[in-house]
Amino acid sequence: MQDASFRFYAELNDFLPPERQQTAFAYPFNSDQSVKHLIEAAGVPHTEVELILANNEPVDFSYAVQSGDRVAVYPHFAALPLGENGRLRPPPPAPARFVLDIHLGQLARYLRLLGFDTLYPTSDLDDADLAQIAHDENRILLSRDRGLLMRSLVVHGYCLRTKDSEEQLTAVLHRFNLFDQIQDTPRCLRCNGILQPVAKEAILDRLEPKTRLYYNEFQICQACGQIYWQGSHYPKLRQFVATIKQGHNQS
Ligand SMILES: [Zn+2]
Repeated sequence: MQDASFRFYAELNDFLPPERQQTAFAYPFNSDQSVKHLIEAAGVPHTEVELILANNEPVDFSYAVQSGDRVAVYPHFAALPLGENGRLRPPPPAPARFVLDIHLGQLARYLRLLGFDTLYPTSDLDDADLAQIAHDENRILLSRDRGLLMRSLVVHGYCLRTKDSEEQLTAVLHRFNLFDQIQDTPRCLRCNGILQPVAKEAILDRLEPKTRLYYNEFQICQACGQIYWQGSHYPKLRQFVATIKQGHNQS
């Protein structure tokens, strides 16, 4: 066994047992182990890590940890854009697009309402399928499952710490700095299809009497035909996002 000193910074401590939080600790390891392996063996998915310093020098995930190394592991810092040096992965897709793990249906609806291309598989996909989709379609994988995010196929991902869907949305908007990418037109909440304006006369027979009476602007999903109008939840979500954006700008 050899020993290196590791320290994890900021919210990466969420993944560590109390005795390893906010402090440098001795980390015994067998020789020829990559820093990525040791980070994940400590409980931190590689998707959460944005910068690794070994003895104050940036290293990539493949770096073979040496006995006596001092390793510092950092999460994403919005205020600290990294140059090419020390970058662990290509930049995330822009505009951002996502694939979501099970039990994240409400977050999927929020992201679609804000216009983000968001896959939320309804059939039973296993972890391997989700990782493959994220990889093949260059999507950011959102999950509460650390093990899924530790899969090596996953390049971009984020581990949601909470079950509260509004807190989840807040965290994702901050983590990937999405405020400037929010669209006025949502994606279809049912199928992620693209919405287009449609004339009221063309869909009159599909509207409930009250909708017919009170609304004049409609959109239709190009993929599944679902009809949308500015319902009651939609302005509320915009207001919610405006509030978090304000907090973001002030921080
Ligand atoms: Zn649709």
